[in-house]
Amino acid sequence: MTALMTTVTDETVFHYVRPLRGDEHGDLLSIWSGHDILFLSRSTPGWALIDAQNQVWGWHRREPEWSTASAALDGFIADPIMRERLVADGFRVLADHGPLLEDFIRGNPSYGLPPLASGPTGRPAEPILPNWGHLLDLAQHAVRGGDPHASTPVEDLILAGRDFHRPAVFKPAVMRRWLASDDAPAALSAMRAAAGRSDSPRTTAEAFALLEPLGCNRSPGDGHTLDAHLSDASTDGDWLIGTCGRCWHPIVEHERPDLTVSTWSLFGDLR
Ligand SMILES: [Zn+2]
Repeated sequence: MTALMTTVTDETVFHYVRPLRGDEHGDLLSIWSGHDILFLSRSTPGWALIDAQNQVWGWHRREPEWSTASAALDGFIADPIMRERLVADGFRVLADHGPLLEDFIRGNPSYGLPPLASGPTGRPAEPILPNWGHLLDLAQHAVRGGDPHASTPVEDLILAGRDFHRPAVFKPAVMRRWLASDDAPAALSAMRAAAGRSDSPRTTAEAFALLEPLGCNRSPGDGHTLDAHLSDASTDGDWLIGTCGRCWHPIVEHERPDLTVSTWSLFGDLR
């Protein structure tokens, strides 16, 4: 892939298409709930982006730059090559006054990955995003039953005797291949989804930098800052799992009743 790809962000390819950014989601929610500041009538005219199976992938109100179906298609998918490939797969734009917006909003449009055109792709054919609940269960079980010293990565403990597959988003080699492919916008979306409240990375250059294996541990004394995605209050204290707000690596914390805290890296190569 060319060096140009390293500056691509998915915001430059997809607009108002799943997974929606926070501001886009807010816009559509206000239209859906009847608080559209531009249209004070009960329904707002708009355009829906749908695939060959009639699944809704995007929605936008009709306005001057989105006045025709063709202009809307350009608005939804700004990259002409990606647009051509998705249209060849059956993607099209339909006029809508609400029912398709309803479908879209009810389908949790902030979650998931952008549409994938058929043909060669860098998208991994394996589970991509983490199931935090499952990971926290495994981590608690591993730490309680294994060597509780914080220098042992949790995966080493989990792997001792359990069937466990690391989500693709935390496999640096897989992510480097994916980020270097035409499907880089989806790779970025996956990394952002895994990062939770932290909104990084925005560009493939930032994403490649985050795949640096040492993370915060590169500078001695700089510990991780946990952005917790899930917590569990147990009799032996609080357990928290999530990603580091600075280096994005997945970590687990245990806060005991005596307030001592241990932090583990989930994976030994992402410290
Ligand atoms: Zn960190």
